Amino acid sequence: MTGGQPVDGPISVAAIAHGVRAEGVSRIALVSDQPEKVTFSDFPKETTLHHRRDLDAVQRELRTVPGVSVLIYEQACATEKRRRRKRGQIEDPKRFAVINDLVCEGCGDCSVESNCLSIEPKETPFGRKRRVNLSSCNKDFSCLNGFCPSFVTVEGATRRKGGQVDSDPATLAAGLPAPDMPRLDLPYDLLVTGVGGTGVVTVGALITMAAHLEGKGASVLDFTGFAQKFGPVLSFIRLAASPAAIHQVRIDAGAADALIGGDIVVSSSPKASATYRQGMGAVLNLAEAPTGDIVRHRDASLNVDLRAEKIAGTIGAVPRAIDAGRLSERLLGDTVYANILLLGFAWQDGLVPVSLDALRRAIELNGVAVETNLKAFDWGRLAHARPETLPEAATDAPATDDSLDALIARREAFLVDYQDEAYAGRFRRLVDRVRAHEAAIGSDGLTEAVARALFKLMAYKDEYEVARLHTDPAFLESLKREFEGDFRIHYHLAPPLLPPGKDARGRPNKRQFGPWMLSAFRLLARMKGLRGTVFDPFGYTAERREERALIAWYEDLVETHLDGIDAAGAADWKKRFEAPLQMRGYGPVKAEAVARVKAEIDAGLAPSAR
Ligand code: SF4
Repeated sequence: MTGGQPVDGPISVAAIAHGVRAEGVSRIALVSDQPEKVTFSDFPKETTLHHRRDLDAVQRELRTVPGVSVLIYEQACATEKRRRRKRGQIEDPKRFAVINDLVCEGCGDCSVESNCLSIEPKETPFGRKRRVNLSSCNKDFSCLNGFCPSFVTVEGATRRKGGQVDSDPATLAAGLPAPDMPRLDLPYDLLVTGVGGTGVVTVGALITMAAHLEGKGASVLDFTGFAQKFGPVLSFIRLAASPAAIHQVRIDAGAADALIGGDIVVSSSPKASATYRQGMGAVLNLAEAPTGDIVRHRDASLNVDLRAEKIAGTIGAVPRAIDAGRLSERLLGDTVYANILLLGFAWQDGLVPVSLDALRRAIELNGVAVETNLKAFDWGRLAHARPETLPEAATDAPATDDSLDALIARREAFLVDYQDEAYAGRFRRLVDRVRAHEAAIGSDGLTEAVARALFKLMAYKDEYEVARLHTDPAFLESLKREFEGDFRIHYHLAPPLLPPGKDARGRPNKRQFGPWMLSAFRLLARMKGLRGTVFDPFGYTAERREERALIAWYEDLVETHLDGIDAAGAADWKKRFEAPLQMRGYGPVKAEAVARVKAEIDAGLAPSAR
């Protein structure tokens, strides 16, 4: 059942199988994540039992069966398991999936395979990659099916608690001035938005409890989607001087007095916007919570700036905004406190007309992670009133020099580490030639397109490179910062020289390798000088041969056409020159992308080539 509802009656999986068998179905397949725990003798003899990794193969087989066939999928819902883990009802495995973003190609295959919104985009100087949001991860681990070697699992670990700072927010916030609060002569309408699983409903409950403690009138009406995790949530909160002053629980169209926008997408949705009016107050969390679009389209954008502008236009003022997700993770070690932090920010902004004491008491009465939630609340107040007191670790943005010079230099330096000076020089020569031509014709964008695409092709991730990136001290350090305990790192690979069999779609199966792989990687990384030579055992595979050929193909494409490009045609050529950026992924995922993109470039070239 959705939302963790109990199933009424004594129905069991075996009873379902017997039921459909009694109705005449003769082909029944039972798929489970733990087939070893199934008492198979309880099932009709026609039933077959399969591990969930074979789900696709089973579906393909069943579609060939004439008449009705039944597939029963047996597994506890991952969201429900997470809920039970949080409540201590089942064990929380000390296992975490982490993506090494240097190895990641940003192909999005893990999002497609897992359909999971905890796989989030991660913007890096080398483009958009993916990361696992460990705060919202359900530990279903289906993302490991993404066809790439980027994933490691950290086994035997616990996440470090308390974030990356030692300061005590209660002490820092002690002298903060009290905000001016709105009067409650008329009912006060406060809209709280967010996504399921992040405590939006809790925010509404805390505010109304605080109002109740003060003898004020309060009501809350929650709109939650069916999927309790990640679905849009709106809480209509109404506050008044006394309970008798509240006659309805909805906020009328155009009647909201304030918005606590826990999610920018939900806050800019038509349903939320319908309640907005000119002159209302608003605070926004600018953290980007992924949507289904990002699962389906790897480069989809949430257009945060546009959405914030739209809200500003509707309410007639720019909302105060913070990245509550990042602050919560850095200050408290988990994004789950983001909405309480935003509540503190909104309270300090004067948008929540209940007293500080009452709100703090409500957090205590709530009884869940009281100390950390009080800290989150105080950090939110400080982020509003004294942002300069926030620890640097919470606010420092990743250094991003976006200049063309920096972009080229970063890639050139990377290629020196990838192979050597000569290899990096090959990159620099073509990029300099394009830059000189672009300066002569007065266009813009060609050089960046070539720098990005040529780098992408030259830094292809073969065995030596994956080994180098997995042994990168910065990556290993990041794991130590995130986790504590005597943990071990496991790798998930499909090495071409160790054929591990194929799945129903013909994709090589991935296998898990233990911590010894780190030593093997170190050895392999030191052998990068063999790359592309006759002594390179991996260099003979079709994949590696194609990757080397692609570099020559691209250099030839640029060299052949560059002199003929004028200012008027530069925009079209930019699109063609940057198209190889779409050749992402590993193995079959990359092969499909290469074939498609090459065909598109060739089709685009046809008019000019003739
Ligand atoms: S390479 Fe593709 S499948 Fe692997 S982590 Fe990155 S986006 Fe996911």
